[in-house]
Amino acid sequence: MPELPDLELYVACLRPRVVGQALQRMRVFSPFVVRSVEPPLSETHGRAVVEVRRMGKRIVLHFADELYLIIHLMIAGRLLWKKPGAMRPGKIGLAALDFAAGSLQLTEAGTKKRAALHLVCGEASLRRHDPGGLEPLECGPAAFTAALRRGNHTLKRALTDPRLFSGIGNAYSDEILHAARLSPLALTGRLTDAETERLFEATRSTLSRWTDSLLRQFADRFPGPGDVTAFRDGFAVHGRFGQPCPDCGCAVQRIRYAENETNYCPVCQTQGRVLADRSLSRLLKNDWPRSVEELNF
Ligand SMILES: [Zn+2]
Repeated sequence: MPELPDLELYVACLRPRVVGQALQRMRVFSPFVVRSVEPPLSETHGRAVVEVRRMGKRIVLHFADELYLIIHLMIAGRLLWKKPGAMRPGKIGLAALDFAAGSLQLTEAGTKKRAALHLVCGEASLRRHDPGGLEPLECGPAAFTAALRRGNHTLKRALTDPRLFSGIGNAYSDEILHAARLSPLALTGRLTDAETERLFEATRSTLSRWTDSLLRQFADRFPGPGDVTAFRDGFAVHGRFGQPCPDCGCAVQRIRYAENETNYCPVCQTQGRVLADRSLSRLLKNDWPRSVEELNF
């Protein structure tokens, strides 16, 4: 699932290509992807893009006259930049936004169609799609701590709760928790001030390092189909079950849940304890992202 660094990459790649450009037309190949009715998508035709921004895990194309096209990629949704008028990229193609300079295509691999487009009019309507989490690269330590301590949750759940923090999902929460040397099961209510500070620093450094690295990597080309992924070379633990932790060499462990898994290093993060899958369901009860939908909201 694209998270903050991937979405910032898309935003940075889209801006020079579409801001100031008029959308010629939008082609919808898979009608289910469009989840709004009013205003009709044709309202965007002929209008210029004023700005592109990220809102939580969504990308927003702001058109003239306060029209906002909200793109939610969910898990398998991706964006491609093709030649003007390019054909539908096979069955994975959901929609295309045609500009004079190129065609922005929304694709989604797999059979579960979760990616969504909404067109809304006015800032107030746009805000209804914003889960309201803090921007982790813009907030200070006090606001971060306040959000973290708003309830007593596992760190995994708190970091991935879009009402608390914006843009963090399954992959980067694993990386942040490893960098902070904290267990995904630690409870926010029991963190010491030193641990909270470590988590704040790890959140900022992990997200900004990966964002900067992706922006550098794609400074002169739009990311291709395999370039936005939850499994990156250079990740410490996420997607690396059984492989050695880069810091201590211990085999990375996993906790499976919903359609996902959380990865952690038992030496660096849980004082050597391996957290058993089965006992977790009892321990965690409701304090874990229960479904893919919840994790991606
Ligand atoms: Zn380790």
